[in-house]
Amino acid sequence: MLSTTNIEKCPHCASENIVKDGFTKGRNQRVLCKECNKSRVLHKKNALPFSFEQIKRAFLERLSLCGVCRIFLISYYQVYKMLNLSFMVMPKFKTWVLAKPASDDVLEFDELCGFCGKKKHKQWLWAALSRNTRQIVAYVIGDRSEKTFRRLIRKIPIEWLKIQSYSDAWKSYSLLLSKGNHNMIGKETGQTNHIERYWATRRARMSRYVRKSLSFSRKLRYHHLVTKLFIMDYNLQCLSTLF
Ligand SMILES: [Zn+2]
Repeated sequence: MLSTTNIEKCPHCASENIVKDGFTKGRNQRVLCKECNKSRVLHKKNALPFSFEQIKRAFLERLSLCGVCRIFLISYYQVYKMLNLSFMVMPKFKTWVLAKPASDDVLEFDELCGFCGKKKHKQWLWAALSRNTRQIVAYVIGDRSEKTFRRLIRKIPIEWLKIQSYSDAWKSYSLLLSKGNHNMIGKETGQTNHIERYWATRRARMSRYVRKSLSFSRKLRYHHLVTKLFIMDYNLQCLSTLF
């Protein structure tokens, strides 16, 4: 019978001249490389057999938190921990949005209903979408009031507010009429088709925004976090098609 031996190498300089060097706090074996004099752990105990990227992709394909736990055989706690960690290292939203729009670009505004914890706790997602690039230029989550819409306007880069924009006839949008290039129109005109299509994509890929869904976040923090993950991922895909 043939048996194979794995020869351990230093991950830094690929030298085989390594010796055991005690344990870390988590009881992982450390090794010391005698060539480059660096000490490190080669094999982590209890390391998860998948990356956070895979968990993230599962979330972005309509899986609920319970679904992620069942498929990857991990606990809620581990998923929450990963989500929190990803939130800490996530780049700023503005870094993935074009600073200046093309002169013929158009902004489309709309709001989408979701909820958190209970059906009564409605969370409206307001967004401004660029018709040319399909990117979400800015978004906020809150109630359906004018106050939330003002928060959205403050998040839109100033250059984007100078271009033509369209929305439905919801009363809060009348705030934008004073800037002179905003139009409040009916859906039948087709001027908000792109953002309506975006909501359809969102519903197809995120169970949190499906009507009469049983999948929803219990905590507002995770509702915000998963929404941000989706929008950032979508914006990045739009950017990659541009360049
Ligand atoms: Zn080395």
